[in-house]
Amino acid sequence: MTAISAPKGLLLDLDGVFYVDDQVIPGARDAIRLLQQRRIPHLYLTNTTTRSQAELADKLQALGLPIEAGHILSAPMAARRYLEAEGLSRVRLVLRESVKRDFTGLVEDDDQPEAVVIGDIGSAWDYELLNAIFRNLVDGARLIALHRNRYWQMAEGLRLDIGAFVVGLEYAARTEALIMGKPACDFFTTALNSLGLPAREVAMVGDDIESDVGGAQSCGMRGVLVHTGKYRPQLAARAGVTPDAELKTIADLAQLLD
Ligand SMILES: [Mg+2]
Repeated sequence: MTAISAPKGLLLDLDGVFYVDDQVIPGARDAIRLLQQRRIPHLYLTNTTTRSQAELADKLQALGLPIEAGHILSAPMAARRYLEAEGLSRVRLVLRESVKRDFTGLVEDDDQPEAVVIGDIGSAWDYELLNAIFRNLVDGARLIALHRNRYWQMAEGLRLDIGAFVVGLEYAARTEALIMGKPACDFFTTALNSLGLPAREVAMVGDDIESDVGGAQSCGMRGVLVHTGKYRPQLAARAGVTPDAELKTIADLAQLLD
């Protein structure tokens, strides 16, 4: 690992760092306990949009990862805060049914939405849906994406992520999406405010060289890359991002804190 001064606070990615699918990464539980024991201000940041915050907390419990719901900042929760702050209440939610629960209280309106919120819907994407969203955008709806990741890691291999659809819609409708998850600085800032620490005192740990590491660096934090999850040496080398530190796995977290 490259030596850097110990950060005062940490932001940590979940998927690919603490688990892949239903497999806990060895040492993940000890790393979580280490943060708790040393009282390091920390928050888990996730772009996962396939689960509501409550379901995410349930999954972590089921995996035996002692992470409380209050320590998680998810992209859907950040998007909800944004919609409320902007007074946008009529929305098209391109989200799994379960994740729509994070938006309870807003009005679903597919014909005349004020905003379209895009998250992960797996293989439910098709031409009709893309075209309907395209028309909403041309009619003036704001485009909000919970992230714009290019791909993610499943047990079977890499899979195309929503970034491709978001960019296609931006291009066709001549608009620009607001990104609510990593690597958007608004998202990181929400997390930093909750830690009460300035960006320079905080490091972000993740398996995504662009979204986690590059994103954190662009917003003034240090970026730490773990060699698990979606990490691939050849993809990391091509990304044009130099991590401030690298860890083989989250089990080596103590190296970062000492
Ligand atoms: Mg990840």
